[in-house]
Amino acid sequence: MSLNQTPSGERVHIGFFGKRNAGKSSLVNAVTGQDLAIVSDVKGTTTDPVYKSMELLPLGPVMIIDTPGIDDEGELGEKRIGKSRQILNKTDIAVLVVDAAAGKGEQEEELIHIFRKKNIPYLIVYNKTDLTGESVTEDAGAERHEIWVSAATGYHIHEFKERIAGLVTPEGDGRRLVADLIKPSDLIVLVIPVDKAAPKGRLILPQQQVIRDILDTGASAVMCRENELKTVLSSLNMQPKLVITDSQVFAAVDKMVPDHILMTSFSILFARYKGDLRQACQGARALKTVEDSDRILISEGCTHHRQCGDIGTQKLPSWIREYTGREPEFVFTSGTQFPEDLSGYHMVIHCGGCMLNEREMKYRLRMAVDQNVPMTNYGIAIACMTKILDRSIRPFTSLFS
Ligand code: SF4
Repeated sequence: MSLNQTPSGERVHIGFFGKRNAGKSSLVNAVTGQDLAIVSDVKGTTTDPVYKSMELLPLGPVMIIDTPGIDDEGELGEKRIGKSRQILNKTDIAVLVVDAAAGKGEQEEELIHIFRKKNIPYLIVYNKTDLTGESVTEDAGAERHEIWVSAATGYHIHEFKERIAGLVTPEGDGRRLVADLIKPSDLIVLVIPVDKAAPKGRLILPQQQVIRDILDTGASAVMCRENELKTVLSSLNMQPKLVITDSQVFAAVDKMVPDHILMTSFSILFARYKGDLRQACQGARALKTVEDSDRILISEGCTHHRQCGDIGTQKLPSWIREYTGREPEFVFTSGTQFPEDLSGYHMVIHCGGCMLNEREMKYRLRMAVDQNVPMTNYGIAIACMTKILDRSIRPFTSLFS
């Protein structure tokens, strides 16, 4: 991600679905004005979902996802269809592309049913009208989520973008990472360990996002490593409103920060922002009942390179072994991988999910609730094991009253 880009987790995810050769990829290219996907007349050219983050006017920052055909065949085809269905879990707006000459069939109707069931706003786009010679006014399908376009000639592409923009629900539900906990002129101390697992020369996304939210509020942030925290705290001439630490140094920071100063972690802020803090706190209780044979799923949202270092893969498992005195089996997933069947797991421990959009994070949380599997978050799990959970959720007391 370039420094100027909106993080993928904060972008509106627009999924393009449809049969092979309905012209999905050509439509994506017409909308983005870029050669995003490989387009050919051979059925099923898109074999893996193709992602492109971009500014799409009049919408703003979006993530366009071109998916494999829903009518793909054979064993590989089944896998591709499975991938397309998984994309639905993160789709904020669904575009169903239909060949205007062929019209909708059973598979399209089934998809529309899923959009409705999952409450995903959608638009049915009849493409290739240049071949059918049809000229349908923009208003004709407005009531029925339909529009007629031609990716080849550009017919109604502008109107299509406008209709997509109209499907975006207005700016979230007002949830903020930290801004609602602080006031302008407050001072916030951020504790950021810089060990060998930290990425070279930069801060990771959760830290960047928290800093930005503090600046947006008109408050100030002071940053230091845990080694310098004592000196920093004693040199301040005003009391910090809040100390936010990386979870992996929670215990040490807890000892250094006087009890009357509020303290939490980046990860806990994300548990509240993207997920469900109450569910995460309840889920952490499952740490108390871990047995040797139990399987624990540790899941991270990073797609390619782990940004949060070795906290999930190394440190958490070793702290859990130490805390429980047991030898559970750890299973790790990252990026889009998240098992649909959680029934074999004693519990799920998820990272802050800053790379995942809200819809996907909520989908994962709901799966855990539906399957009765406790799910918690890195920061909450660590706070629980270091016996500082009560203190670390004190900044959010109104949530639990
Ligand atoms: S591991 Fe999770 S919290 Fe850390 S950067 Fe990746 S998605 Fe964000």
